[in-house]
Amino acid sequence: MELAVVIPVYNEAQAICKNFAVIYDTFLQDDISCQYIIVDDGSSDTTWLEISKLQKEYSNVSAIRFARNFGKEMAICAGLDNIDAERYLIMDSDLQHPPKCVKDMLLLMDRSQVNIVDGVKQQRGKENFLYRFFAKGFYKILKKTTGLDLNDSSDFKLIDRSVVDTIRQFRESNLFFRGLIDWVGFERTNYFFTVEERMEGESSFSLFKLMKLAFNAILSHTSKPLYLTFFGGAIFLLFAVILGIQTLVNYFSGNAVSGFSTVILLILFTGSVIMLSLGMIGVYISRIYDEVKGRPRYIVSQNLSRGIKKDRKII
Ligand code: UDP
Ligand code: MG
Repeated sequence: MELAVVIPVYNEAQAICKNFAVIYDTFLQDDISCQYIIVDDGSSDTTWLEISKLQKEYSNVSAIRFARNFGKEMAICAGLDNIDAERYLIMDSDLQHPPKCVKDMLLLMDRSQVNIVDGVKQQRGKENFLYRFFAKGFYKILKKTTGLDLNDSSDFKLIDRSVVDTIRQFRESNLFFRGLIDWVGFERTNYFFTVEERMEGESSFSLFKLMKLAFNAILSHTSKPLYLTFFGGAIFLLFAVILGIQTLVNYFSGNAVSGFSTVILLILFTGSVIMLSLGMIGVYISRIYDEVKGRPRYIVSQNLSRGIKKDRKII
């Protein structure tokens, strides 16, 4: 089978059928033959009902349902794990990744003989100021700490079998798909596209979810923050020594120590630095704990695959 289209879906009951029809028709018009795999990421509305309708209606649609919300990254992984194809396209279900671009992406892959065609946001669509501000800040920090330059990169990607075979071997449960694709290397080229407006519903990435994703992205690609806290600690120790010497000099020269506030400030300062460092170490330890537990990365509660990958153990 030539192309597999992986679509992660979460709480899109109202729009999924309509949106899928648009994707389906566009691909039909563009002569793109493919198998679809729609992953319901544990939606709490009737999304699964709609997806099973699609699975019945279209002969080339497979569907997978998660037992709960495991996040978009895991939904993408499940799609890639459960279907065999020469090439894989990952796209959002809300039409923000324009289906009409896919033909060009396929041609680009053929023409430039690459393993990855990276969808890069040329225009970011409508985003509020705060979102844009935090996104920019996040990508800057990400680049500084991990070296990953993902500004304007998206999950809209066309990747070939060799890349998928590689990432299928990764067993980590906290992964950041965009970062991973960047990390594995391979031959790649960019495809610039304009993010469409979301027609129905709203983004399911709340501020908290986005912060979790940002944190995850940094922590799963670098342990630099650990070193940072170490150096921070060292610098504060230096300050403490200098202040200590000064206090001693004051004491011996007969100047009464009146700096009550200095003491309080120091206690607060050092306390917070220690807390911060411990917290940072704690976060990494919790991640080690997560990995050591070796739990499945996601749990599939229903699998309406079309026998494309029945033999494969779902992990
Ligand atoms: N999505 C998902 N799991 C989640 C959140 C989102 O599978 O926990 C899906 C969602 O249904 C959509 C895609 O990921 O197909 C992008 O989500 P959304 O449009 O909410 O995010 P944004 O466009 O703001 O990045
Ligand atoms: Mg969207």
